[in-house]
Amino acid sequence: MKIKDRYAPSPTGLQHIGGMRTALFNYLFAVSRGGTFVLRLEDTDRARFDRRFVENLYDTFEWLGIRWDEGPDIGGPSAPYVQSERLGLYETHARRLHDSGNAYECFCSTGRLAELREARGAESGYDRRCRTMTEAERAERKGRGEVPVLRLKIPLGETTVFSDRLLGTIAWKNEDINPDPVLLKSDRFPTYHLANVVDDHFMGITHVLRAQEWLASTPLHAILYRAFGWEPPEFCHLPMVMGPDGKKLSKRHGATSVDEFRRLGCLPEALLNYVALLGCSYEEGKAFYTLAELAERFSLDRLNKAPAVFDYKKLAWYNGHYLRGKSDAELAALAMPYAVEQGLFGAEGAAPSESQRAGFLGAMPLIRERASFLGEIPDKLRYLFAEPGVPEAGEFIPKKADLDRTIALLEAGRAFVPELAVLSDAECEALVKTGAERVGAKLGDLMMPLRVALTGSRVSPPLFGSVRVLGPDRALARVDRALEKLRSSCGPSSP
Ligand code: GLU
Repeated sequence: MKIKDRYAPSPTGLQHIGGMRTALFNYLFAVSRGGTFVLRLEDTDRARFDRRFVENLYDTFEWLGIRWDEGPDIGGPSAPYVQSERLGLYETHARRLHDSGNAYECFCSTGRLAELREARGAESGYDRRCRTMTEAERAERKGRGEVPVLRLKIPLGETTVFSDRLLGTIAWKNEDINPDPVLLKSDRFPTYHLANVVDDHFMGITHVLRAQEWLASTPLHAILYRAFGWEPPEFCHLPMVMGPDGKKLSKRHGATSVDEFRRLGCLPEALLNYVALLGCSYEEGKAFYTLAELAERFSLDRLNKAPAVFDYKKLAWYNGHYLRGKSDAELAALAMPYAVEQGLFGAEGAAPSESQRAGFLGAMPLIRERASFLGEIPDKLRYLFAEPGVPEAGEFIPKKADLDRTIALLEAGRAFVPELAVLSDAECEALVKTGAERVGAKLGDLMMPLRVALTGSRVSPPLFGSVRVLGPDRALARVDRALEKLRSSCGPSSP
């Protein structure tokens, strides 16, 4: 069977993790079966529509590297793929439902509907008042210029049964379904239900993979398919995505839009890899997959029924893994925009000088193991580009040493600096080891004052690499500033 599925977002917000997961699973399913993946814009909610969300949609999937086979930007046999450009089709089909007795006109004012909601609670919905309206009254109200909406006439006293690929057979008493929902609004725009069903049918969609929050709409859709006399597609409602506390993932938990993760410095391959695992299990013991590997393995049988938990720490771990796989040049290019934006080279937004650019590239090995997201990199390297303040004397002092001893150790360390700036890590290590023996100190005790002098902190990225990036002149100047402070911290020498 030739598969055709779709991602059908409403451009009323930024692309978030849930939408990205739906798009990704549809994409993977289509590719895994040699099928067709369609992008359709469900832009019928004109009040919440914003062009900027359409741009965000294209931009997000471009960045992720997910492409569709048919869609608004590239066209295809079922064009147009934007619902606001297909209004005639919905109107014709709404009419069809009306003429076959499956839909009726409703004249209730928004005021009356609001009162109803107030009196009966938002959940209970419409009271079906216009369902039994006489022809005469209908004609009269139209004559008065009232413009009706069209509502679906849900067959009462029946149960609607449909099957979900993941959840099995689902039976829903028709009395429990949203009572006679609107299909066509008075502005002639369709609602989600009508447009979604008409489009899935005419676009030849064979599989609907969508978030579980749409499950309550599916009985309605099943009723619509039956009323039209169409074969419904196969439904598969994807497992929910929860936050770490077991509640539906939301802003309360942290970043949820793809944009936010991008701004933090998430790599697209890491986000794809992690999101692909939200509700789907691949092979035991394998954690890392490229998009192509995921597409090779994806199958609806691999979906989990249980809700997935979005674990921010796990994503950070994935991202760290992919960062470590980058070459220095790749990592520097990826991290550079963050460094510029965060003012690593001067004011915020200031571009690097040639030597800063070279220093930044040279510093990549220092943070490759220490950053989870690109956005963390500039702050971790700030000590190399801006002069750190000289810490209090106490910070320099190794365990069991005193200030005089610390000064002596730092002076000994200073002597190595010009060589450290040009030697390899192994050579530096050997050099400092011999030096430590010579002054009768432990290696760590010799290094500590030097580290604090060069980096401004007792904990820092690797010291030898830092000296190489600083160069001998800047490194010596830092040591001298530190020595000056330490010496001035000694009390006046006793006579
Ligand atoms: N327009 C709906 C959305 O925003 C589509 C739901 C569906 O896939 O049927 O997610």
